[in-house]
Amino acid sequence: MKYADLHLHTVFSDGTYTPEELIEEVCRQSISAVSVVDHDNVDGIEPVKIIAEQRNIEVLPGIELTAEYNGTEVHILGYLIEYKDDNLTRTLDTLKRNRNERIYKILDRLRRYTGIDLEASLVFDIAKGGTVGRLHIARALVKNGIVNSISEAFQRYIGDKCPAYVAGFRFSPQQAIGLIKQIGGIPVLAHPYSLDQDELIPELVNNGLRGLEVFYPEHTQAMVNHYLDIAKKFNLLITGGSDCHGSAKPEVRIGSIKIPYTLVNKLKKEKAQNG
Ligand code: AMP
Ligand code: ZN
Ligand code: FE
Ligand code: FE
Repeated sequence: MKYADLHLHTVFSDGTYTPEELIEEVCRQSISAVSVVDHDNVDGIEPVKIIAEQRNIEVLPGIELTAEYNGTEVHILGYLIEYKDDNLTRTLDTLKRNRNERIYKILDRLRRYTGIDLEASLVFDIAKGGTVGRLHIARALVKNGIVNSISEAFQRYIGDKCPAYVAGFRFSPQQAIGLIKQIGGIPVLAHPYSLDQDELIPELVNNGLRGLEVFYPEHTQAMVNHYLDIAKKFNLLITGGSDCHGSAKPEVRIGSIKIPYTLVNKLKKEKAQNG
């Protein structure tokens, strides 16, 4: 039986794995196909593909976009996207500038409201040129001994409703789904438990959503069954993945979620028909 993990982050966003390290771990876990879905970034796809080919691992080009719906953050995954599309490149450039500026805004709030002084250069050094985000700030706070853990950083300072929280640019779900479709991809709702508003799913389906990330580390068996039912009801594709960020979230490991390769075939079939 062949397995896949369709939700992996790399150093090109807020994961810590280089393409080499990622594929090494994927091989160790006997996974045959992966999707790299960095936040607002496709730069990791090509380098991962080059390493993966040498090890006979299949790479599905992907992305994870941040959207907002009725005040709730909604992550939309895009699978089998045309990641070299010019319009996509331009959009991601804008998002990158927004994310860079947001770091300064968060650090400013940290200084003003909590007295914590964190150098922007430390955060950007940790991000190593990839899509920068709150996880990098959390790592910088840990590195400087200001908090003991990443989760403490989110709980006390940078999580939503915290003093230094600044929302980043967010698409509407319709825009995120539209962009993914425009580049021939399949839009999938990531970790639906975090949305926690199932009643929004039909509306996302009306906007063009084609799949649900049913298999996810935080999903209990009851949730998996529940989302399988919803997927069936709305004729949605089923995906899954670990959402591994490497050592930035060591408790979430590659291999914790392995979905049957037959689900990858279904994504490819959808792409062939509608992509
Ligand atoms: P950003 O896109 O900069 O807003 O950062 C969002 C990312 O931060 C998510 O994709 C997660 O990787 C991480 N994150 C969000 N909330 C938490 C949390 N409570 N604990 C650990 N990581 C989190
Ligand atoms: Zn992340
Ligand atoms: Fe996510
Ligand atoms: Fe993710």
